[in-house]
Amino acid sequence: MIEVQELTKKYGSVAVVDSISFTAKPGQVTGFLGPNGAGKTTTMRMLTGFLPPTSGKALVAGHDVFDQSMEVRKRVGYLPENVPLYRDMTALGYLMYIGEIRGVPNRRAKALETLERVALVSRANSRIRTLSKGMKQRVGLAQALIHDPEVLILDEPTIGLDPIQVLELRDLVRELGRNHTVLFSTHILSEAEQVCDNVVIINRGQIVAEGSPQELRSTLERGGRVLVRTNVNPDTALPVIQSIPSIAQAEISMDGIVVAPSDAQVDPRPAIARTVVEHGWDLIELRPLAVNLEEIFLELTRQAEVATDMPVEPPAETAPESEAVQ
Ligand code: ATP
Repeated sequence: MIEVQELTKKYGSVAVVDSISFTAKPGQVTGFLGPNGAGKTTTMRMLTGFLPPTSGKALVAGHDVFDQSMEVRKRVGYLPENVPLYRDMTALGYLMYIGEIRGVPNRRAKALETLERVALVSRANSRIRTLSKGMKQRVGLAQALIHDPEVLILDEPTIGLDPIQVLELRDLVRELGRNHTVLFSTHILSEAEQVCDNVVIINRGQIVAEGSPQELRSTLERGGRVLVRTNVNPDTALPVIQSIPSIAQAEISMDGIVVAPSDAQVDPRPAIARTVVEHGWDLIELRPLAVNLEEIFLELTRQAEVATDMPVEPPAETAPESEAVQ
């Protein structure tokens, strides 16, 4: 379980993570979705005990990331954006080394078992530099798993992989989600939709939406455009549909009438259905126009941009850091 309460990270006076709160539950993959620079990595580094928050609180596997960062590190597996791999070691040697640092008993057996979990046991004795990018990423995942952590934090793990490797890694993450609390960051919307049970959308350091991909879709569908098709000519139906109070706009399109509701919080479909039936027409089709997570994301981030006066430029780098040990 990850519980985040009003977590904030400031560099100078700029809050790059601005009072965010969310929960990631066990047995689920929680997607942390946002564009570049949204604050995903900064949040993940705070949750893994690598970066102290400016204010707020986060409990990871029941331990406070600020006061009990060593306890947190024992219970978290972290796959950073740049995996710290030693290229001249074999996959097995590297995992045994990580196991030693983490105090894992029966290191060799555990390293082999972990390689098996990430489907890489056949390359156990290959040097890391000879592995493909997707395989290296799986070695990275194995180092995050070797100590059987309760919580897994994966920072954009599919970046730079080819399409087949991406599918394999997504499958693996979904599988890991059954037995762990997984927080999985991505800026790819369809990926969040495919992999995650729950999605937290972050933009410019603030959470702009949270829910299952289905819930997020229905939130936007509520205020989105709807297609109406009846058994009468659209020219005949148009003035009637237009006169429904909850409808702002209606036009003939797509072999029917496309309507936009006047209030984003009100689903116009019940009123449309009633009107059609009252006129004695048959309702052939009444459906929201295709809305995917991509559109939801654009809409939500657009709303957030309209509502904020924050500068567009990112703040200056004050202390660049990297976990990469190439
Ligand atoms: P990406 O997908 O591009 O990695 P992200 O969502 O992970 O994006 P972060 O890396 O968390 O975003 O960065 C959030 C913001 O904080 C960015 O504007 C970044 O420039 C800024 N930032 C990060 N580290 C520092 C630092 N050490 N000093 C100043 N600003 C920083």
